Amino acid sequence: RLIAPAAVSPQEELVERALRPRTLAEYVGQAKTREQLEIFISAARNRSEALDHVLLFGPPGLGKTTLAHIIAREMGVNLRQTSGPVLERAGDLAALLTNLEPNDVLFIDEIHRLSPVVEEVLYPALEDFQIDIMIGEGPSARSVKLDLPPFTLVGATTRAGMLTNPLRDRFGIVARLEFYSAEELGFIVHRSAGLLQMNLEEAGALEIARRSRGTPRIANRLLRRVRDYAEVKAGGQATCAVADAALVMLDVDRAGLDVMDRKLLSAVVEKFMGGPVGLDNLAAAIGEERDTIEDVLEPYLIQQGYLQRTPRGRIATPLAYRHLGLVAPSGAPG
Ligand code: ADP
Repeated sequence: RLIAPAAVSPQEELVERALRPRTLAEYVGQAKTREQLEIFISAARNRSEALDHVLLFGPPGLGKTTLAHIIAREMGVNLRQTSGPVLERAGDLAALLTNLEPNDVLFIDEIHRLSPVVEEVLYPALEDFQIDIMIGEGPSARSVKLDLPPFTLVGATTRAGMLTNPLRDRFGIVARLEFYSAEELGFIVHRSAGLLQMNLEEAGALEIARRSRGTPRIANRLLRRVRDYAEVKAGGQATCAVADAALVMLDVDRAGLDVMDRKLLSAVVEKFMGGPVGLDNLAAAIGEERDTIEDVLEPYLIQQGYLQRTPRGRIATPLAYRHLGLVAPSGAPG
């Protein structure tokens, strides 16, 4: 699936790693976040202190993991990586924390999925660089306080609203990643094509950029498919027409929407008369998980003006009707 939220195979993961920018200067877009981080990182470095804890939020594929790696690199420290669902027991987190070196970065992806017991261990670690661990069991069990080296937690989540308040309050730096413009994605595609030693015309790069749902991961994914298509069908030369033909074959339409996007919009329009429709009904109608709809599909459709989220549910806008080749009923929003 083109808009799968994470790398879909070990091979894709390798490619993603290879295409990842390594420094803030190479990191395209997200100007506000980059500027903030530049200042805070250089101040922390000058004082030889750990950077404040950083929370990165935004839809999948916008560069949260990439930024975590860049932060560690720019700080000149190690990065340890884990994710919310992987840390099952308090001891799992304690083991990671006690192995950190001063000013290291601990990256926790999907931090909204930490279990409450693990979160309890995290609070004092974030605040005072200390943890309480229990030694022994039963009546002889006792709690021991351990000092930790100062460190930086970089947490990533698709939605900041899913974090508990006490956890959110412990991040000194909070950055929301935005969808990328076609121009920014054009730079990313161009750079990736260079790294993949691919023969891609400027107009071809822009065509891919325009149809990548504002998301670098999708842009790189489409780029690789266009490369295959160009090699087999066009002697390796990826022109605008070749990129377009490859994207049409992949069911990415001229507005850059994919099969799942259109399925969701058609369901709202045809099964629910344009809405409002609640998330559960929508999920059942298109056979998709609630979380995938909320984290992956909706944010882009809302940002592009195809869908509105209201307290009573999702509503299709006239743009959605037009996109599906239909006429919006009078009184449709927006
Ligand atoms: P997330 O953690 O938000 O899901 P990633 O950091 O894994 O996203 O990014 C997915 C891929 O997109 C990376 O492998 C990288 O190649 C590319 N990418 C993300 N952000 C940028 C950027 N700002 N500039 C260039 N490439 C990027």
